Amino acid sequence: MSNSALLNICYLIGSLGFIIGLKMLSKPETARKGNWVAAVGMAIAIFGTIFLYEFTNDAGEVSHVSNLMWIFGGMVIGTILGTVSAKKVQMTAMPQMVSIFNGMGGICAGLIGIIEFRHLIHATEISGGSLMTGHAITILLGLIIGSVSFAGSVIAFLKLNGNLGDYSFKGQTYFNLLFLVAVFGVAFFMLNGDLANAHMMMYALFGMACIYGISFVMPIGGADMPVVISLLNSFTGVAAAFGGFLYNNQVMLTGGILVGAAGTLLTVLMCKAMNRSLMNVIIGSFGGGSATAITGEGGGTIKEISVGDAAINMSYSKKVIIVPGYGLAVAQAQHICHELEKQLEEKGVEVKYAIHPVAGRMPGHMNVLLAEADVSYDKLLEMDFANDEFATTDVVLILGANDVVNPAAKTNPASPIYGMPILEVEKAKTVIVNKRSMNKGYAGIDNELFYGNKTRMLFGDAKKILAELVNEVKAN
Ligand code: NDP
Repeated sequence: MSNSALLNICYLIGSLGFIIGLKMLSKPETARKGNWVAAVGMAIAIFGTIFLYEFTNDAGEVSHVSNLMWIFGGMVIGTILGTVSAKKVQMTAMPQMVSIFNGMGGICAGLIGIIEFRHLIHATEISGGSLMTGHAITILLGLIIGSVSFAGSVIAFLKLNGNLGDYSFKGQTYFNLLFLVAVFGVAFFMLNGDLANAHMMMYALFGMACIYGISFVMPIGGADMPVVISLLNSFTGVAAAFGGFLYNNQVMLTGGILVGAAGTLLTVLMCKAMNRSLMNVIIGSFGGGSATAITGEGGGTIKEISVGDAAINMSYSKKVIIVPGYGLAVAQAQHICHELEKQLEEKGVEVKYAIHPVAGRMPGHMNVLLAEADVSYDKLLEMDFANDEFATTDVVLILGANDVVNPAAKTNPASPIYGMPILEVEKAKTVIVNKRSMNKGYAGIDNELFYGNKTRMLFGDAKKILAELVNEVKAN
């Protein structure tokens, strides 16, 4: 069998690995294996390319990839950095890591664009033709989208990491829109313009795409970051797919299309979940920062509840719904939470979990967290189903959630989270909120729920409070 036929088989295995892996990622039980299947497929495709790829060199001879020292050197450094950071990262810092890794994919696509466009300029100088070809358009699209994704992901990383706030200026939406048009305008003039200026314009285009990436992610704040993260993911996928077209490389194409399609679908779902329009996300015109934060009832009084009373309340309930949030993940209290669920069920209480699509810090965060503690999947209620059930619920126990239960999303048009669907916990008979203080959530806004008549605050670290609750419920 020829090398090229073998290489095609490697690419087929790689592509199948992505597809099967992605399918397996959709279920918690198979997700880990799915990750491995996709990674092994990718490894086969990479090593296949390194050892089997053949091309005709300038002397007309069949040649192989030769700069192996550089390739393996880069792979070793990348593997060490990737492994160490993935092992060390806290579950709650995963979104930052996803963002920065996504940015790495974006810059790869951007750099491929720069290198290939330089080759193209050189080839056009020799052949004397025009730059306006399908090949050049593919290169530039990869360059623009990859660079936007890179710069946007770096900003998203810094924001999620708490190093950067939300910055916006008057008319930024229009600025972003015009700037986006300008980026494509420059690309158009470059393809039609003088070859002598093409190098300079290419770097200008790279810079402009980066500025656009920064400018569209900068103002996005409040609770809207998840939408932006999935959009940036899809950008990187699309940029990689352009690379696949460029090199006629099936595995790069399949991988790029899968990431692009999955990211786009997730973005659309997130937009629906957050009641936002996709166009507004792309031009960075929503979810302004906490400057417009509301203060709710501000000086209103809160009512506290003791662990003992909370335990009695739940033990004598018919139905309890637990609302997990970011704080539960921070406290790593998922196992003890599952224990509380079991104790309550032994007392004949029906226990369910209400899952908000953006609770925590990454899409599906709460599902992953609860799956880790073996909470049965059929106990998890999606937001709409949960909202239908709250009216017949005796106690809602909120564990480290804040923004996803903030009624300002429905009642205060000035709020940065206005319009985002929330878990309507206030419909239940009693709402018990566990958090450590009156601190705000990710969106940086006060929460009127905490001052509500039905609400009782149960202050303390989620893990510690849950352990005490378990003991009290057992004793009742
Ligand atoms: P929030 O960030 O709104 O609130 C979390 C709350 O947990 C805080 O108010 C904090 O209060 C409390 N908390 C922190 N540590 C503990 C602890 N050890 N024990 C008990 N409580 C604790 O979380 P939500 O899940 O409600 O909302 C998620 C937010 O993050 C949304 O705004 C969402 O848009 C955003 N986001 C989501 C992403 C995603 O993909 N899911 C990605 C990026 C952002 P205190 O300090 O007083 O304890």
